[in-house]
Amino acid sequence: MNLRGVGVSPGIGHGPAYVLTVSVPEPPEGATYTGEADEEKERAMAALTRVAGELEARGNQAGGEAEEILKAQALMAEDPGLVVKVRTLIDRGLAAPRAVFEAFIKYRDVLAGSGGYLGERAADLDDIRNRVIALLYGVAMPGLPAAAAEPYVLVARDLAPADTALLSRAQVAAFVTEEGGPTSHTAIVARAMGVPAVVACPGATGIPPGVRVMADGTSGDVRVEPAESDVAEAVGADTARQAAIASARGPGRTADGHPVPLLANVGGPSELDAAVAAEAEGIGLYRTEFLFLDRAEPPSVEDQARAYRAAVAAFPGGKVVVRTLDGGADKPLAFLPTPAEPNPALGERGLRRFRRFPAVMEEQLSALAAVGSEDLQVMAPMVATAEEAGWFARECRARGLPSVGVMIEIPSAALRARDLLVPVDFVSIGTNDLAQYAFAADRQLGVVSALQDPWQPALLDLVAMAASAASEAGKPCGICGESAADPALACVLVGLGASTLSMGAGALPAVRAGLAAHTLAQCRMAADAARARTTAAEARAAARVHLPGLGRLGL
Ligand code: PEP
Ligand code: MG
Repeated sequence: MNLRGVGVSPGIGHGPAYVLTVSVPEPPEGATYTGEADEEKERAMAALTRVAGELEARGNQAGGEAEEILKAQALMAEDPGLVVKVRTLIDRGLAAPRAVFEAFIKYRDVLAGSGGYLGERAADLDDIRNRVIALLYGVAMPGLPAAAAEPYVLVARDLAPADTALLSRAQVAAFVTEEGGPTSHTAIVARAMGVPAVVACPGATGIPPGVRVMADGTSGDVRVEPAESDVAEAVGADTARQAAIASARGPGRTADGHPVPLLANVGGPSELDAAVAAEAEGIGLYRTEFLFLDRAEPPSVEDQARAYRAAVAAFPGGKVVVRTLDGGADKPLAFLPTPAEPNPALGERGLRRFRRFPAVMEEQLSALAAVGSEDLQVMAPMVATAEEAGWFARECRARGLPSVGVMIEIPSAALRARDLLVPVDFVSIGTNDLAQYAFAADRQLGVVSALQDPWQPALLDLVAMAASAASEAGKPCGICGESAADPALACVLVGLGASTLSMGAGALPAVRAGLAAHTLAQCRMAADAARARTTAAEARAAARVHLPGLGRLGL
């Protein structure tokens, strides 16, 4: 049996399948209780508090990124809105397990509906709910084997932080999940652990437990009971690939020495070490909203300044591009309340929302100015017009910020990049949203994901347009969307005129190696060839003809 999903953490992992099934029963609809409402509420609250405590304790034990994720999950378990909802439902006569079940449905819908990073946290919420209900029923939560004879391929519908926090590379050969996307928890944890992972793999939980499985975290192929010779061949090729990639070191440049600084995308202080370890030359996108996702109050100026200062300190002499809050749509922030909008991605998000909350803006820009570093660059998300770019630049300059830019992630901004460039010092293209808006295809909706393919020639045209405008204006044009993490596309983006590439730290070595294997002229030919085609698949194939070094690197 062969299955196909989306590879989100590269490498070959093989071993016996451990299929994780969650079997916490759904509390019957309309289930009531016999005692006092206050006692029932007490029971529910005690279960929520205990689950929060357990998650926090696991976080302390796990440390690192898992600690932050688990602590955020612990906060979710005690979210005031959720607690009120549970109490209200119990007052209406529902038994504690059913009240918890229904309250979580509401919370989950809000989260799932918001898409993006937060939407993918919906699985975390299911996990908390299951834990609370299991506790109320007195049943055990399904767990993972503490010790196994050999590393296993962990197969699940989706994985929650509590499932994976205490796992190590020695236990898990690969992750395969039916749900999830490139920014789901499974993907984040797998990349952080360096374990191959395939997500969005239909049929995965049908794999019989214990049979041998080989998962290819690059291609997304999952083979059930592969021949031993096939496993040996795939592992051999993977080892050679890793050695070739690791041999490229130092600053990003093409084979003929054209410099392309390779930068990291980060979402908080805990990601700085990985970026430094991967030899990032700076930060191309600091997603500041991720610093504050779980806060009910705006963060203080001091808290913010501390985080920004740490980023600058991590890259002496390197640039750090901090993006102002991108609240709304896929990144709702409690302290920038969202009105109900029929289409949040088309609503008041990013800079639009930032503008409506002058106090929050004042604090963030003051915190950035307080860092007092020439290496700190500030940019705004979701800029649609030159007027918005001008307004943002004025606000930043009035506070003494030395370098101001805007993101190009709305087609109008790419089309009129020359106008947006006038008031700012640089632009950075966010290809995730640019694809979403160019193709009218929700970036988190699986059924339209083909339209989200960053190889779509129309997207490449928009990038080319913005990059040429920047080059004419003599100003830098970076790329900070996920497209920069694809080694082949990274070469094409450089060929289109990108001056820097920013990506998750894990992608840096492969992109560095791919770039170093080709000249700028090859990158330009690859870009022209891709744009001359009509489909994403043709564009990819046409570009690769001019990028022979990728094959040699196994990329
Ligand atoms: C983008 O849209 O490409 C981008 C980099 O921003 P985010 O993914 O945070 O929306
Ligand atoms: Mg964006």
